[in-house]
Amino acid sequence: MFFLRTEQTGLVFDVQRYCVHDGPGIRTTVFLKGCNLRCFWCHNPESYSQTQDLMFYSNKCIACGKCFELCPHSCHTIADDGAHLIDRSKCTLCAACAKRCFAGALTMSGRMRTTADVMKTVRADAVFYRNSGGGLTVSGGEPMLQSAFVTELFQAARTEGIHTALDTAGNIDPREYDAVLPHTSLILFDLKCMDETVHKAATGVGLSRILENIRRMGRGSVPVWVRVPVILGVNATTENMRAVHRLLADLPAIKKLELLPYHNLGASKYENLGLTYKHSDMKAPSKELMAELIGCFADADYQTSA
Ligand code: SF4
Ligand code: SF4
Repeated sequence: MFFLRTEQTGLVFDVQRYCVHDGPGIRTTVFLKGCNLRCFWCHNPESYSQTQDLMFYSNKCIACGKCFELCPHSCHTIADDGAHLIDRSKCTLCAACAKRCFAGALTMSGRMRTTADVMKTVRADAVFYRNSGGGLTVSGGEPMLQSAFVTELFQAARTEGIHTALDTAGNIDPREYDAVLPHTSLILFDLKCMDETVHKAATGVGLSRILENIRRMGRGSVPVWVRVPVILGVNATTENMRAVHRLLADLPAIKKLELLPYHNLGASKYENLGLTYKHSDMKAPSKELMAELIGCFADADYQTSA
């Protein structure tokens, strides 16, 4: 088999094998760090920063004291009630504590990996991709913040006949996609909501670049699956879904629309990162509401699912 010569590295925070929700078939999903949105419901908050993060799992801590001894900046302290505190304002992410925490209570999220190294993991499941119509998905965060790495990774995968899917939220200069799309088999476009004011309040950014990119991709040669997370109080209305339908109606590359109900499975990660999850009482949309919302796309030319 011919392997492409590679040289790029990317900051990867997770690689999940045997995924069935990130494109067709069985897939390996590579998660890259860095995101330029701040969706308040995000279940991957460790993707926010473009640097490593220190994660602390208090339930695994055996109180051995190693991190207190090793930290050069005395970041680890004990509160009056016995809780293990970390002063993250002093932390330089040197990783000294995480390297010696044998209980696994302290870990660094994010590791620089070469294209060749990631491809070793991806290649290991080639037989599953062949049998299921699956492949490699790159997600995040916003993977396009590391577009040179994604381009090289996709190029390497496609050289070996592996299907590639790019999971993007589209808040990127449209020219950035020019290098990666020739090596992309499928675009998974995450669209949040159609109201500029609500979008800005919910994600921290406006819609203009996102809409420009979805229109451009929707008229391009790479098939696009649009994925809309359904978030109560943000976009879970028929009015919003009809606006999505109008947007997609004249875009021939759109092949599928998926409505994804909100879940709070990522809530504990906020605590592990020393962040506060402000929406722990947020509910998932009911089955009835999901059925009503997907009904807005009943006459669509593309596939739909909810
Ligand atoms: S090194 Fe790990 S197990 Fe030991 S006190 Fe620190 S966090 Fe807890
Ligand atoms: S990563 Fe380094 S600076 Fe940060 S808490 Fe651990 S030892 Fe201290």
